[in-house]
Amino acid sequence: MNNKKSAWQYTPELPIKYSPMFDWPQPILGTLRYFLGSGFIFSQRTVYAIVAVLAWVYFMPELSTAKNFAWSWVGTVAVVLLVINLVYGWGYHWLFWVSNLNSKECKFDRRPMAINSDRFLFANQLWDNVFLSLTSGLFFAVFYMCGFMWLYANGSIFMHTWNDGWLWYLAVFPITIWWSSLHFYVVHRLMHEWQWLYDKVHALHHKNINIGPWSGMAMHPVEHAIYLSSVMLHLFIPSDPIHVLFHLIYLAAGAYWGHIGYEGFYVGKKQVLAGGNFFHQLHHRYFDCNYGTAEMPWDKWFGSFHTGTEEDTQKVRNKTSSK
Ligand SMILES: [Zn+2]
Ligand SMILES: [Zn+2]
Repeated sequence: MNNKKSAWQYTPELPIKYSPMFDWPQPILGTLRYFLGSGFIFSQRTVYAIVAVLAWVYFMPELSTAKNFAWSWVGTVAVVLLVINLVYGWGYHWLFWVSNLNSKECKFDRRPMAINSDRFLFANQLWDNVFLSLTSGLFFAVFYMCGFMWLYANGSIFMHTWNDGWLWYLAVFPITIWWSSLHFYVVHRLMHEWQWLYDKVHALHHKNINIGPWSGMAMHPVEHAIYLSSVMLHLFIPSDPIHVLFHLIYLAAGAYWGHIGYEGFYVGKKQVLAGGNFFHQLHHRYFDCNYGTAEMPWDKWFGSFHTGTEEDTQKVRNKTSSK
């Protein structure tokens, strides 16, 4: 770990890097190691997939019941998604911001969550963030999940189950992750470039400069609708309701995780869980940079990548002041 006295309490090694998957020339061994290791297979993404399967098999309503609208099955979907959001949102918050299990050394920003601040609902950043996540955030997640279940149940879109071919079934999971990275880059950049949309909608998310897990889904309802519309992918590629559920878990839990404000989960000096997101933390501090994710180099390709260095901070400041 290194300690940097100026802008941050802690930074990972700078400049930050993308996943090696899209590097050129392609480091095949590095990519393989990333894919089989902490990047994909041994990452929380696999846990999200397992949660989606278990939730679908044991707790979600039978697909056949979704042929017609009824509050009973829609209510069950809402409860399942609420529980999943609570487990991940509170779980990460408790692990990083409440308990002493995690080493506090790798916290990016020195400041605590804002309290007694009139910028936030209830004058409290945490409660503001929880409220937005569990009201309109949950509403749109339920809306998309139920919409897809209704379409699948009525045979209106093409469904691909495990029995239809396991290879494509498994491939849909990484495709979902790559697609959501592109989708997020495009819609997020649009929300910054279109001033009206920024002022009326996205500015709400950016009230959070020092971020915690619940900041991840603290959005304006219009942004929730846009952000979660990433699941529209499944209208166009043969998928299963479990893929849609995984996609929604990935978008929510991934956002909570991406805003933890820490480099990772450490016990002493040993990193137990990798993947805090300094990439997005930089976006919350400097705004006009890092619109996408560290998964795919969209920002690098389109000239908005902030690597965490002082030089890049100056470049972003010049760009912002010339607007
Ligand atoms: Zn933004
Ligand atoms: Zn954010």
